[in-house]
Amino acid sequence: MQNPRGTDPRIAGSEKALRIFMRRLREIMAGPSDGQARLDTIVRQVAGHMVADVCSIYLQRNDGSLELFATEGLNPEAKHNTFMMRGEGLVGRCAHLAQPVNESDAQNHPSFSYRPETGEEIYHSLLAVPISRGGSVVLGVLVVQNRTERIYSDDDVEVLETTAMVLAEHLVSGDVAGVNSAPEFSPTRSHVVRGQPIADGLALGHVVIHESRIVVKDLTSDNPALEVERLETAVGDLKATLDELLEQNEMAAPGEHRDVIETHRMFANDRGWLRRMKEGIQQGRLTAEAAVAREQNAMRARMNALSDPYLRDRAKDLDELSDRLLRVLAGRKIGQLAPVALPTDTILVARTMGTADLMDYDRSRIKGLVIEDSGGQSHIAIIAKAMGIAAVAQARGVMERVFSGDPIIVDAEAGDVHIRPTSEIIAAYADKARFRARKRRKYKGLKAVPAVTRDGVRIGLSINAGLQMELTQIAASGADGVGLFRTELEFQVAPTLPRMERQTQFYREVLDAAGDRPVVFRTLDVGGDKTLPYLRHPHEENPALGWRAIRMALDRPGLLRTQVRALLRGAGARELRVMLPLITSVGEIDLARALIKREIELLERRGGPVPKKVHIGIMFEVPSLLYQLDAVMPRVDFVSVGSNDLLQYLFAADRNNERVSNRYDRLSVPALRALKSVSDAAARHNTPVSLCGEMAGSPVDAMALIGIGYRSLSMAPSNIGPVKTMVLGLDATKVTRHVTALMQSYEGSLREPLTAYAEAQGLEV
Ligand code: PEP
Ligand code: MG
Repeated sequence: MQNPRGTDPRIAGSEKALRIFMRRLREIMAGPSDGQARLDTIVRQVAGHMVADVCSIYLQRNDGSLELFATEGLNPEAKHNTFMMRGEGLVGRCAHLAQPVNESDAQNHPSFSYRPETGEEIYHSLLAVPISRGGSVVLGVLVVQNRTERIYSDDDVEVLETTAMVLAEHLVSGDVAGVNSAPEFSPTRSHVVRGQPIADGLALGHVVIHESRIVVKDLTSDNPALEVERLETAVGDLKATLDELLEQNEMAAPGEHRDVIETHRMFANDRGWLRRMKEGIQQGRLTAEAAVAREQNAMRARMNALSDPYLRDRAKDLDELSDRLLRVLAGRKIGQLAPVALPTDTILVARTMGTADLMDYDRSRIKGLVIEDSGGQSHIAIIAKAMGIAAVAQARGVMERVFSGDPIIVDAEAGDVHIRPTSEIIAAYADKARFRARKRRKYKGLKAVPAVTRDGVRIGLSINAGLQMELTQIAASGADGVGLFRTELEFQVAPTLPRMERQTQFYREVLDAAGDRPVVFRTLDVGGDKTLPYLRHPHEENPALGWRAIRMALDRPGLLRTQVRALLRGAGARELRVMLPLITSVGEIDLARALIKREIELLERRGGPVPKKVHIGIMFEVPSLLYQLDAVMPRVDFVSVGSNDLLQYLFAADRNNERVSNRYDRLSVPALRALKSVSDAAARHNTPVSLCGEMAGSPVDAMALIGIGYRSLSMAPSNIGPVKTMVLGLDATKVTRHVTALMQSYEGSLREPLTAYAEAQGLEV
């Protein structure tokens, strides 16, 4: 029987009937009965409301099969005794597709799977809808069947889908999950989602879903005056909160946090923005929230049309500001995104996250971060590392699988995210976390111990840094200094090009924080994969081999000149160390030295304090320098080997491309020969040499580097402890002999024999 919409009396079509039905459903859910009784009542109610001969609920088990949990109309004996395998029958098909299945002649459908125990042979039509959360995590299937052949109407589908949605909420909240001895539904199932680690660490905690957007439900209002007043109050509160944020101690120092808030404050004072929102209320009869959202949408549409990366970034700031305003209108405080207080072991799970969003959270409560989106995480990675939280990005599917409050483990060593882990996994990770904590305590105890090998060779261990937030690490890590200060990081996270005054103040603070310890400032290393949103970079076929670092600085000397000026002023009368990135030829060294010299002379002429000594060094990152060693060494005050770049160019394998970055080994004979020729030449010329690439932070690699003559290494702060522990147990003379012999007798990678050697010596590598 065909069933045009709204004409069949059996169709539960009217809105009123639906409202009454939904109220009844909520009463059932809130009622005192237990899970099974609730499901039984629901199927009875649905069958009655939809005039269906059968209504059944199937729930998904761990193995993907569907178990008949409740039924009105089918043989009651079939309850908990009927199972559909994954994808089997029309019910399985509905779960598999995560879509409604609407069949007037189900029995003749090729997917139909007859179950004699149910007695369903007499029913022809079938409507099945998935019980799902987040669109694709299917928890089960809700089905109605009728004897007659009918196509269920859109209204029927809507009623069933709404019921399924309510059911899903209660299954997830655990209200119904206790119905059976085998409650193996998806929401209680463990999942592992694999992503890309972006900030090392291990965190066990509970999920807080980062809501970057407030969903506006009430769109229109009959009282525009009231809505305008609400909007004005909210904008006032927003401005006051931004002012307060800027006055907080931790915001006092310049840096990205401050820049973001300042940009937001600037936009919050923009009259045009407020006017457009007010017009939305007055002319469109919108609520304050809807007016904000409308303006936000219009702005997003404009933003998509922009090609200028700087303008796009400003538009993004305005977008974030609208989110903040919506939160204020919803009664949420800025800096407190979750309506309830954050748990002390919060793991934030987000589809996307802006740096400002992350910095809005209470740092002391955030242990980990999981982001679903791919791309654009370089800034978030920088902030997460500086905050010291474990972070994984590109965790596809994570948002669909997690619920607020779920236990979760972020393994940012491996890139795994364990959602609702089993007790065995929790125990294993708790052990791992305890082990890491024990090690950290041990490393902390070594802070004041100098890194001297057993045979008395002092190894300089410095840290790589670059952000305002990392300054505390200089003292906390017990390092000898900062071997590589990547100045471009603050440029990368800043919304606009930092002016000279700001740079000066920042460099001064870095030196203040370092005290007596030397800091090596690398001049801007931008271009390649390090773009600045507010600077135009020409499109290049091959950016890693393109117009970057010193090449750009020498072609456009304004940027370098400003930076050098700021560095000189920031240093005052103290010593200053400046390092030039990506040097390829001695000519570049001469040009850059001349530029720096001119700036020193200019400062002298102006009578400002001049650093008592300016050391000018280079990053050794381009293989061409290997053939100019004796020309390079006398020209520079120090050399720091950037092994990340040097080896990627030596082996012609992009360090950021997973497919090729593992094709060579840093401990292979050719790599070690190249690195040794640099340390040998430095020794010949008495030029201080250090190495600041990733390999310096790996104990076994560091051991090999000591074996080929390196006495100074610079690494991430967290690596100082493990490397120092290795150094304290090492005999430098013995390892030099051993590495030299291995380099003569092997051709390929020395990783295995070197690891075996370290273990034989009782070293932790
Ligand atoms: C390097 O290339 O080894 C290095 C330390 O510089 P960056 O990683 O910043 O390119
Ligand atoms: Mg480099």
